[in-house]
Amino acid sequence: MSKFLCKKYSSLTPYTPGEQPKERKFIKLNTNESPFAPSPRAVECAGEAARSVQLYSDPECKRLHAAIARLYDVDETCVLCTNGSDEILNFAFMAFCDDEHPAVFPNVTYGFYSVFASLCRVPYEEIPLCDDFTINVDDYVGINKTVFIANPNAPTGIALSLDDIERIVASNPQNVVVIDEAYVDFGAQSAVSLTKKYKNLLVTQTFSKSRSMAGARLGFGIADPELIAHLNMIKYSTNPYNVNSMTMAMGIGTLEDNEYTIDNCRAIIQNREYAARELDRLGFVMTESLANFIFVKHPKIDGADIYAKLREQGILVRHFSKSEIDQYNRITVGSVSEMKALVAALEQIVSEVK
Ligand code: PMP
Repeated sequence: MSKFLCKKYSSLTPYTPGEQPKERKFIKLNTNESPFAPSPRAVECAGEAARSVQLYSDPECKRLHAAIARLYDVDETCVLCTNGSDEILNFAFMAFCDDEHPAVFPNVTYGFYSVFASLCRVPYEEIPLCDDFTINVDDYVGINKTVFIANPNAPTGIALSLDDIERIVASNPQNVVVIDEAYVDFGAQSAVSLTKKYKNLLVTQTFSKSRSMAGARLGFGIADPELIAHLNMIKYSTNPYNVNSMTMAMGIGTLEDNEYTIDNCRAIIQNREYAARELDRLGFVMTESLANFIFVKHPKIDGADIYAKLREQGILVRHFSKSEIDQYNRITVGSVSEMKALVAALEQIVSEVK
């Protein structure tokens, strides 16, 4: 270990992002990006904003917060924008977790939660999923810890109902419950409305998936103003200009063109249903995903082999080596032509083992 690195980070294992290969052109179904370009209105707004980047971006994100507040029918004081939703999740670990408020989240879920917990040096508990990969809601009722739940969960795509979320939030009034809705626009129920009723609920969302802005890095949280003030304290203690002007303008443009997002989500849902039907025909087993990905395994073919064979055919999916899910692959739902190419490739892989 280098003599320069602080001891407290010596055993930190960072998050491993999905591959972004440059050496050849893949059909990229590994990081849950949108197959659709951003809204033309958003691109136009970003171009205009680029002309004034000699000035700092608005640290209060006023116009963007107002646009989000309007869309989600909440007060502007209930919104906070960040550099991707990863940043607001990090802020939440910093602001709401310590020895008195340990973190808790499912095992399996978004891999970044345990990294944030380690980075912030807070104790955390991981509660196993049920055998069918669902979350047992009772495990979190009255648990008295800071709860992190991705809804729909990643990488399973399985969603909890609003009633289940409310049961968790209502039964943990001394702790913050963070509902990570990165994938909510593809069919699950959002908990944003509950933020008006519960002071301990933080809902996070992202422009990376349904709004085709992964590379622009824009996420946000909606919560009671008291929680937003705490998160702002962290923001102003780390990076007040965390959202750059072009991204901010792009976010506003995207919200002005909300029909575009709605149409794209509808297309992804249709393509997910098509892919699920076809993979079922090929003998794959999968969870009931309400996200922009499917989570699949084949009873006769090893998960890592499927990943490798698809890769050889120019299709990149996500395989996790974690033992609970190592027979599965998470496949992003892309365009119709991408899904057709995926089905054709899998058809060939399956035919080879018969
Ligand atoms: N939450 C979940 C469950 C995710 O899968 C992701 C994407 N990796 C994020 C949050 C963060 O996305 P972003 O920082 O691009 O908003």
